[in-house]
Amino acid sequence: MIDTHCHLNDPKFENDLDEVISRALDAGVRAMVVVGYDVRSSIRAVEISQRYDGVYATVGLHPYEAERYKDDDLREIEELLKYEKVKGLGEVGLDYYRGPSDKNRQKELFVSQLEIVRRYKKTVVLHIREAFDDVFSIVQEFGDLKFIFHSFSFTKREMEKLLPFENFFISFSGMITFVKEVEESAKISPRDRTLTETDSPYLAPIPMRGKRNEPAFVRFVVERLSKIWGLEFEECREITEENARRVMGLG
Ligand SMILES: [Zn+2]
Repeated sequence: MIDTHCHLNDPKFENDLDEVISRALDAGVRAMVVVGYDVRSSIRAVEISQRYDGVYATVGLHPYEAERYKDDDLREIEELLKYEKVKGLGEVGLDYYRGPSDKNRQKELFVSQLEIVRRYKKTVVLHIREAFDDVFSIVQEFGDLKFIFHSFSFTKREMEKLLPFENFFISFSGMITFVKEVEESAKISPRDRTLTETDSPYLAPIPMRGKRNEPAFVRFVVERLSKIWGLEFEECREITEENARRVMGLG
């Protein structure tokens, strides 16, 4: 199992990070990707990845505070992208629900980061909220990059739009265990482009709802997905593991 998206850089893991990571390894999680959302959390993601085997990082500026960022922040993200254990840019994208009302500022920040990551040929982890169509049209301009639609929460209609693009990957979080619509979308998610994640400490899956989520719980996502696809757990684990290694170049 691979957790392609977790926030072990979140203050909620400050006091027991060693235990959380050993629990994940004991549960059979082979790799975890710690995802940044601003400069500070990106630096922290890199630090954690340097400290543990099997732990990788991505770095990037989330649209939530798009108005705040300056060129210096972009330069900082670019420096961090150069680390070997940094496997991608993210999470980046557009958020019309929580993000600043100025959509153009969000788009600008998003596109300038895509232009930077292009030079390093690393994968992009997308955060999208109420902005599917705008993100979809921007990413088509970057056909040379691989994109992960993180914590996929859209309907079958949006999933169908992604199907023709070999460079688009779909990652399911705990939502697959408690949102009917997401389950429906998973039915038609391409097997060779589907990934699993926790988005911990958020979105704990059933049967852990209400608890702090952690990478070990990615098991429940793989389990749910295997049932939806009608596969044995082991088969589903292998498929999603192989996809994650391929898209992010994990060792
Ligand atoms: Zn996240």
